[in-house]
Amino acid sequence: MSLLDTSVEFLKGVGPKRAELLNKELGISNYRGLLEYFPFRYVDKTKYHKCNEITPEDALIQVKGKLGKVEIAGRSPKQRMVAEFIDNSGTIDLIWFKGIRFIKPTLKPNTEYVVFGKPNFFNGRINMPHPDLAEFNAEEQMLNAKLQPVYSTTEKLSGRGMNSKGIERLQKTLLIDVFKEIPEILSEEQLKRWHLISRRKAFKEVHFPESPELLQKARFRLKFEEFFFIQLQLIRTQMANKAKAKGFVFDQIGEKFNGFFKHNLPFELTGAQKRVLKEIRSDLRSGSQMNRLLQGDVGSGKTIVALMSALMAIDNGFQVALLAPTAILSQQHYEGLKELLVGMPVRVKLLTGNTKTKERKELLQDLVEGELEIIVGTHAILEDRVVFKNMGLAIIDEQHRFGVAQRAKLWAKNTSPPHMLVMTATPIPRTLAMTLYGDLDVSVIDELPPGRKAIKTIHKTDAGRLAVFGSMKKEIAKGRQIYLVYPLINESEQLDYKDLMDGYESIVRAFPNPEYQVAIVHGKMKPADKDYEMNRFVKGEAQILVATTVIEVGVNVPNASVMIIESAERFGLSQLHQLRGRVGRGAEQSYCILMTGNKLSNEGKKRMEIMVRTNDGFEIAEEDLRLRGPGDLMGTQQSGLLDLKIADLAKDNQILVAAREEAIKVLNTDPNLALPEHSGINLQFRRFLKERPNWSRIS
Ligand code: ADP
Ligand code: MG
Repeated sequence: MSLLDTSVEFLKGVGPKRAELLNKELGISNYRGLLEYFPFRYVDKTKYHKCNEITPEDALIQVKGKLGKVEIAGRSPKQRMVAEFIDNSGTIDLIWFKGIRFIKPTLKPNTEYVVFGKPNFFNGRINMPHPDLAEFNAEEQMLNAKLQPVYSTTEKLSGRGMNSKGIERLQKTLLIDVFKEIPEILSEEQLKRWHLISRRKAFKEVHFPESPELLQKARFRLKFEEFFFIQLQLIRTQMANKAKAKGFVFDQIGEKFNGFFKHNLPFELTGAQKRVLKEIRSDLRSGSQMNRLLQGDVGSGKTIVALMSALMAIDNGFQVALLAPTAILSQQHYEGLKELLVGMPVRVKLLTGNTKTKERKELLQDLVEGELEIIVGTHAILEDRVVFKNMGLAIIDEQHRFGVAQRAKLWAKNTSPPHMLVMTATPIPRTLAMTLYGDLDVSVIDELPPGRKAIKTIHKTDAGRLAVFGSMKKEIAKGRQIYLVYPLINESEQLDYKDLMDGYESIVRAFPNPEYQVAIVHGKMKPADKDYEMNRFVKGEAQILVATTVIEVGVNVPNASVMIIESAERFGLSQLHQLRGRVGRGAEQSYCILMTGNKLSNEGKKRMEIMVRTNDGFEIAEEDLRLRGPGDLMGTQQSGLLDLKIADLAKDNQILVAAREEAIKVLNTDPNLALPEHSGINLQFRRFLKERPNWSRIS
């Protein structure tokens, strides 16, 4: 046991009551936990704000000046003391609601003070409640001149003296006690290789930085370490999976693959598709189970890669399951595959919740007897009664709709787990992919098929609506179809439905029957009605589809050339990009029109600008991460995986890459962390595994 394991209760100035509170409010139980409770920002104590430049948006700031009038207003308990504070630019008010009796006699006129606090705005004036006040002393100021840490805290903690200042005091006491006991855990060589400062120094500097440069070095070191242990776990899991999960070996490239390649492949594969197929092929013959994530922007041509992978499995005597999240998508995949496989002896069938009993019975029979080679469908495939003769490859489209438990069900469908290919059209920034899917191999299709016309994206406000209607009519006259999407952020949101229905009615008025047909789909419709309406659009009977985001995932109507998104400011970037990807699939020029109100928040404006500027899904994903932070990204909300202590997934990509490289290096030379130079890492890693949830997703 190390000194760092000591309960925080025993730190001078804490005691049992505060210890309990620290644990409850911030999850800090021992010295180590407190030490790893990092400041979230720093105040530059060498700089002073000018009174006339302060805004209520400023966080903690520092001003230098003298006191003017001091007045006491109101009566106890609503009594307050207001002191005017003057610098050479203007004045603000300092306000106290408590302790007035003690503070008032200490206030001196004609004395230069340094004041520190959080500005507010009230009655047209800037004020600062309960500021820190210290007499200015040029010499002392010079010695102290530094970055002051700011810790986030809670109301309850502040009430017991553990505001940011209070936590700072505890950190100081703690560091003096434990400084010498902070162990180095990386080897000399690792420190050198990555230019890392010592661990001890890093902890000291992160709490009490001597200079911005040292702070930067300290943060780098601690972020590296944080990423390093996460990667260590992910890569170890991946190695263990590879060693343990024997994979079926598909070493034949046979008749079906070759036949398809010669006679049925409708186009030349893009370079990216070829590369990815090679990666998959090499996995499939490696002897280990494949766990591969295939990322490719909408329209990048993942389907053909999936099919050709399936043919590799079939040529080796195995069956394939292709799973999609909805019945409509499964249907489309099924029809798409049949078209691609026309004239070939490959038996494909569809299984969804809509499959009729008699048909299903037959299908299940064929499956178990090995008569069926590809089964396409929804979650229905996961049911226990669906038994394969010999499933060798499972392909999951649109990854985020399937959970870990569901993937586990697929694993159990054969004596050894089948190979897994998980496809997603939601580009995930590299950092996030490495953190969330660090135990998967990742392939990327980063190239669109040739000859695509880039979708033109236009931002319009309500004033431009008539013009938009005009353009819609022109496109329809050319034979094109149009999507019109309304936000439905919350299924239970009545207002959203009202907007949708109002929108639908106004569209029907502007595009009257029988000249025009308008279809509508939304989440409250019965599945059968939804399918019926959707099919009217898919078959080209309806020219306009009014919809909520139920169409977000995957539908393919190449003839649709316009995507209109209403209240676009309410959608996140990734979602806008997904919606936009519904058009631009045919040879025609396509358009995406973003409709918003006149008043947009800065962030809303930013999002529209980004959408207009770029069609690149990865760039958009990076911007999304930057604007919203990782916690809000699709599928990561509930994961709790992203509670990093100091590293930032949006900004620290390079550190992550470095840490991952180091983790791979370490595990390659010493998979069990048994070498003496890895003893520090080993100890810390075991601690990490105890504290952290499992980061790996598929297993
Ligand atoms: P996604 O990656 O979104 O699933 P799809 O597989 O549906 O994309 O492909 C989108 C469209 O591009 C389809 O119509 C498909 O036939 C076409 N396509 C795919 N690959 C190529 C290629 N190499 N050359 C030309 N067209 C292609
Ligand atoms: Mg697709």
